[in-house]
Amino acid sequence: MKKINISKQKLEKLYYEKGLTIFQIAKILGCSNTPILNRFKEYNLKTRTNSETKIKYNIPYKKLKELYCIQKLSCEKIAKIFNCDSEVIRKRLNKYKIRVKGQNEYPSCMKGKHHALKTKKKISKTKKEKYILGSIDKYIIPKKELKNLYYNKKLTFKKIAKLFNCSFAVILNRFNRYGLKPRDRKARIINPSKYWKNKKFSDIHIKNLSSSHIGKNCGKDHPNWQGGISFEPYSPEFNEEFKEEIRERDGRKCWFPGCGIPEAECLTKIPVHHIDYIKKNTYPENAICLCNKHNIQVNSNRKYWKRYFQNLMIKRMEEQYLKEK
Ligand SMILES: [Zn+2]
Repeated sequence: MKKINISKQKLEKLYYEKGLTIFQIAKILGCSNTPILNRFKEYNLKTRTNSETKIKYNIPYKKLKELYCIQKLSCEKIAKIFNCDSEVIRKRLNKYKIRVKGQNEYPSCMKGKHHALKTKKKISKTKKEKYILGSIDKYIIPKKELKNLYYNKKLTFKKIAKLFNCSFAVILNRFNRYGLKPRDRKARIINPSKYWKNKKFSDIHIKNLSSSHIGKNCGKDHPNWQGGISFEPYSPEFNEEFKEEIRERDGRKCWFPGCGIPEAECLTKIPVHHIDYIKKNTYPENAICLCNKHNIQVNSNRKYWKRYFQNLMIKRMEEQYLKEK
């Protein structure tokens, strides 16, 4: 490195009085920043703080964006225009959140060109190899041992992963690669906590338990108590004929969002649900098919489901109207 001969006084004059930057001083002396900075240390001079220097450069956002994004000048060239260091421009780009051209960007020599198929395959192959070698294949898990642990010792994937000091995913991956089959379902069911194995509540305890639950969460105390309307009789129009009509209209399937189970998969004939929960209101627009499970589910959040199915019926009627038209 060239040693720069500059006196302390001259440096002080240029830096503090004229307010030049280190970069500008370096430019005058025809050298880079570092020898000047070294001199600063040697003379025990203080450089300006970051916030002080920032104010020095007036680089408006619009102008910077125009130069960088539209005219596509490099940071070095823009730095020359503003008479500052390129690092200042980079920092300013970051501050203004203008996307900096980086390594991720496609190289300019590839502009408008494509890789040949062969090259593409090569690239993907090497990338795959790198990935597999880097993460999954570094664990050595022999098929025999895996089989023994899983089928004979009946360990779970999690426990096997712990033994090999790897993650659950690695075991699963290896399992699939060796073409192993999961254990029988019955064998996989985990027993309830060991404490209750071969133990039972005493008769007195069972009696106490049942008696303490009598009359609780029943009738009016139940959180879903709706004022006893389930005891109201259905209106005479709500007969099998009407229900069949609705089932045919609804295509014999559940209309709960995301369900759509057909009647054939239900245990009973598909139930018909009163949309407004009032049994007296038996007319087609107030009835919809729901499977057993969802017929029970709509008993909570009644306000929400009432509005949901009413909107659904309006939509369906509109569609029907347009079709007939
Ligand atoms: Zn359903």
